[in-house]
Amino acid sequence: MAKTKITVRDLAAELGVSAARLKEILVQLGVSEKEAQQGLDEETAQVVKEMAQEMVGDLKTLVLPRELTVRELADVMERSPTELQRHIMTKHGKLLTPVQKVDPELAEKVAADFGLTVQWETPQPTVSTPTKVAVTGPQPRPPVVTIMGHVDHGKTSLLDYIRKTRVAEREFGGITQHIGAYQAEVNGKLITFLDTPGHEAFTAMRARGAQVTDIVVLVVAADDGIMPQTVEAINHAKNAKVPIIVAINKIDKPEANPDRVMQQLTQYELIPEAWGGDTICVPVSAITGEGVDTLLEMILLVAELAELKADPKAELQGAVIEAKLDKGRGPLATILVQQGTLKRGDILVVGKTWGKIRAMFDHTGKSVDSATPSTPVEVMGLNEVPIAGDKVERVESEARAREIVEERLEAEKRPDIQRPTRRVNLAELFQQMQAGETKTLSIILKADTYGSVEAIRDALLKLKKPEGVELKIINANVGNISEADIDFAIAADAVVLGFNVKVESNAQTKAKASRVDVRVYRIIYELLEEVEKALHGLLEPEFKEVTLGTAEVRAVFKLSRGIVVAGCYVLDGKIVRNAPARLIRNGEVIHESKISTLRHLKEDRREIAAGYECGLTLEGFTDYQEGDRIECYEIQEVGR
Ligand code: GDP
Repeated sequence: MAKTKITVRDLAAELGVSAARLKEILVQLGVSEKEAQQGLDEETAQVVKEMAQEMVGDLKTLVLPRELTVRELADVMERSPTELQRHIMTKHGKLLTPVQKVDPELAEKVAADFGLTVQWETPQPTVSTPTKVAVTGPQPRPPVVTIMGHVDHGKTSLLDYIRKTRVAEREFGGITQHIGAYQAEVNGKLITFLDTPGHEAFTAMRARGAQVTDIVVLVVAADDGIMPQTVEAINHAKNAKVPIIVAINKIDKPEANPDRVMQQLTQYELIPEAWGGDTICVPVSAITGEGVDTLLEMILLVAELAELKADPKAELQGAVIEAKLDKGRGPLATILVQQGTLKRGDILVVGKTWGKIRAMFDHTGKSVDSATPSTPVEVMGLNEVPIAGDKVERVESEARAREIVEERLEAEKRPDIQRPTRRVNLAELFQQMQAGETKTLSIILKADTYGSVEAIRDALLKLKKPEGVELKIINANVGNISEADIDFAIAADAVVLGFNVKVESNAQTKAKASRVDVRVYRIIYELLEEVEKALHGLLEPEFKEVTLGTAEVRAVFKLSRGIVVAGCYVLDGKIVRNAPARLIRNGEVIHESKISTLRHLKEDRREIAAGYECGLTLEGFTDYQEGDRIECYEIQEVGR
């Protein structure tokens, strides 16, 4: 049954714009010219109408100062200066360069050519700052803060204290919603806190390519000092190039010793401001609240210096901070908007799922219609639960969303595409360096004791490196190699070296899937030697051959249809069907392939051990001679 099609002309009339203008909008919305010509189906037309209405509405009226240049006019009209320059020349016969002024009359005409009207700003003869009036462009946005630090040092308590004292809206029966992030108000400004403390969230998100954090607040308990996870947090933040503010917590405790914490910080290149460095340290108590205001002010200060900006009118960009399945409401995801504005009714593709946003709630549980940059919102309407770190994109139609997700799922099934991009690994390091792909070897080191961590770190840093090559130990700690280490390695493009530790099984799986080079050693010298060799391009290939067994040809059987079988005796080890093998005659390799059939007394066998006879064939070979040796081997990954 043919569905009713809505023509562009009709839709344009309905929206009150020219068909040409609507076509341009359609292109921006991803509708091809051909599709537009054929007319739109009702569903698409509806979506286009909603979105176009907004775009038309936003763009139909330009608020302009009376003095502005071609470039400024082009910016406001979201066109390129050259396009506008060309238009002015061909249509109005004036040759103006992008920096020349457009007189108001001409500006109005040009705007009208594009279906726009101009509203003149009230004249302010003395100052004219045309750039400020641009309807689009980056605007200051609240900073996004992650709290990190060692367990029990007070991360949760600090987040709770700030939430309790700074989250303005509590009109919803005082129920605080935990959506994974909240916004605190400080001196009329907002700070977005991610309230999933801990490093996993931070690294897992970075591993998925989402860097949302602008500032890390490192919580260090003044009675405990710097501990392993403190160091890890410092490394995470440094690696992500995110500024650190140190909150020296628990200063209400009699045994608190903030000076000792500051002393310890210097060992990690964090020199407190009080001592002439540039690390801001604020003594606080998450229980009494002492110092917390100062901490918040410092966050705003650092944010101001960083000039954090985002364009609320730009294409939507966001990342999932947290997601869950709610029995009543279905999949829920907390999205942090990074660019553009998220609106109710938007059709989103989120990682490998999609959906039309039916409802959105802010951190106080209030229903909202839109969210601007740095604002976290919980959205309802996705078809499945996404994963933290998934990217959020807006698309023009449900059909397009479905298509993108299907493509992604399909791509995942294809092993060739599933392979992630090349990562740094020791075996290929030298080539990678020569190809200019990397100049840095980043290492995550895990060892069994602090003593070995220190010893290996020192020795690694002392290794001779070729010129221009840098070796960085981005994290060194005690403990088994965990999934978080792999995430960190993915985010930082690092190799993971272990000494006398295990690789946890989920870490192993993840490392394999994402091709992170993980190597475990039992002898320090071997670890150092391998890294040194890698730096100089002398490392053996990543794979090594391990001989499985050898057999000797004792008889040759010519069967029908040209099949020739080698009757063998297994001298040592075992011969394994399908294993790679080579035929050696008088010490020379005559043929290399694999064992394609293997039999013992007419029975097919998977393998035959030393001391037994067997009949075998090598793939692509028939010229066996008595006395030939057949060596069968397997390829093993080195250092795992
Ligand atoms: P997290 O593991 O880093 O999230 O640490 P928590 O916030 O759970 O705090 C661990 C313990 O330290 C809890 O018993 C808190 O009550 C306590 N605590 C946290 N901050 C302070 C503080 O500033 N002063 C005191 N005296 N205790 C604190």
